[in-house]
Amino acid sequence: MVKRYQIYVGGEWRDSASGQTMPAVNPFNQEIWAQIPVASTTDVADAIAAARRAFEGGWRQTSGLDRARLMHRLANLIDANADRLALIETTDNGKVIRETRSQMGYAARVYRFFAGYADKIWGQVIPLDQPRVLDMALREPLGVIAAITAWNSPITLLANKLAAALAAGNCVVVKPSEHASASTLEFAKLIEQAGFPAGVFNVVTGAAEVGQALCGSPGVDKISFTGSAHVGREIAAMAGRNLRPVTLELGGKSPNIIFADADIERAVVGALAGIFGATGQTCIAGSRLLVERPVYEHVVAALAERAGKIVMGDPRDPATEMGTAANEPQFTRILGFIDKAKADGARLVAGGARADGTGLADGFFIQPTIFADVHNDMALAREEIFGPVLGIIPFDSEEEAIAIANDTAYGLAAGVWTQDINRAMRMVHALRCGVLWVNTYRALAAQGPFGGVKDSGFGRERGEQGLLEFTTTKNVMIDFSGDTRDPFAMKL
Ligand code: NAD
Repeated sequence: MVKRYQIYVGGEWRDSASGQTMPAVNPFNQEIWAQIPVASTTDVADAIAAARRAFEGGWRQTSGLDRARLMHRLANLIDANADRLALIETTDNGKVIRETRSQMGYAARVYRFFAGYADKIWGQVIPLDQPRVLDMALREPLGVIAAITAWNSPITLLANKLAAALAAGNCVVVKPSEHASASTLEFAKLIEQAGFPAGVFNVVTGAAEVGQALCGSPGVDKISFTGSAHVGREIAAMAGRNLRPVTLELGGKSPNIIFADADIERAVVGALAGIFGATGQTCIAGSRLLVERPVYEHVVAALAERAGKIVMGDPRDPATEMGTAANEPQFTRILGFIDKAKADGARLVAGGARADGTGLADGFFIQPTIFADVHNDMALAREEIFGPVLGIIPFDSEEEAIAIANDTAYGLAAGVWTQDINRAMRMVHALRCGVLWVNTYRALAAQGPFGGVKDSGFGRERGEQGLLEFTTTKNVMIDFSGDTRDPFAMKL
């Protein structure tokens, strides 16, 4: 039976004012399994107004302790519903269940981490030249946050924003991707169950027009966006027109660098997980693998052999190791990049086509694909493919590895595999990126700040920096001198 969802505005469930819906399609079998409302501009305006009322009407005055209590309750509900939420997300975006299940645990952890901050958002008392003037820099919430998320990990991408925003005392309107909206609407039921006041959290669904109505509204105090660099530019332009702060978590073309002195077995496993985890549909995919010449052919052969053994199948089956491309446009786009790499002369060593073996024919499956002898100026090495396609580039020296790694428009993540601590530290300093791993890859934690440089965006999520992004500073001076003369004038 096709499930019918409603949007969540001001603590109420309702159909879109336009009555329009869009289908949720399972990328494994093309089944339309749910109908999602397409919010109208009135719905978006209502959601922003509801968030404003909730903010001014009490949420900003709640104690950190009360906010933390609600957030802990929410985290417990996520844990209790993790299997169900994971199944919904997998049905919607084709990511394997073992990964979506572990992402739910991660999301609960993020809410607990930021709940711990809710009653510890203190400012500073700052000594001035005037001893009888007290200066306090207070940290305050911003107000109404517009949160826009991508389809690859809706619940975790939302957690990175929402947990920090709520802990700091903001209200939020989220618009998930049109390609995977259901889990966010299911999540809203947990918000309701946890007892958050009406309007503190709202969900409007739909495509770009809904995102534009939300981000273009002067009623929004900050935009927090996760998505492509292309849309990121449009979001930044809207934020600029309204003079609102914005955080942009965008794409990447991350270099994963294996030196000859690395533990090669671990590096090969890290390289595989770095590109084929989440079917390569992750912003931090290690999609450019740089390998030092003495171990180059060995690494290429080892990766090609293992890529051929990756188990594809129903993403809902715990035995499946790699799922589908999340939707048809994405599927077509990835295959287009594979054809282009072949035409550009890269050496295909694994995959290279649609996977249509037993049980795969109806799904958007793509073989784990590896190209060797890639040049950094090929489209394969320059553009974010967001799929299971790896380009391997040889290098002869540390300097060359750094030059190739940094020669990209992006700057999200990077990996370095070496057993030489001095080299590792030189690489840490030389690589331009926001997230860097040494002898591991794709490791994430609620405590560690995450974000990019260059076309990968700006601002940080997670960690203390992620919290401060949802606050503003109000500096207060209190003159307690009782002096008839202005204490500042006296000093001049
Ligand atoms: P996208 O940019 O196409 O869409 C992202 C979101 O923006 C969706 O909700 C979409 O409906 C909305 N949107 C589209 N046009 C809009 C507009 N003009 N105004 C307002 N909203 C608009 O990205 P996608 O295809 O959903 O996701 C893949 C991209 O996301 C990749 O580039 C990936 O690297 C990036 N991503 C980044 C991170 C990170 O943390 N850095 C995490 C996950 C995904």
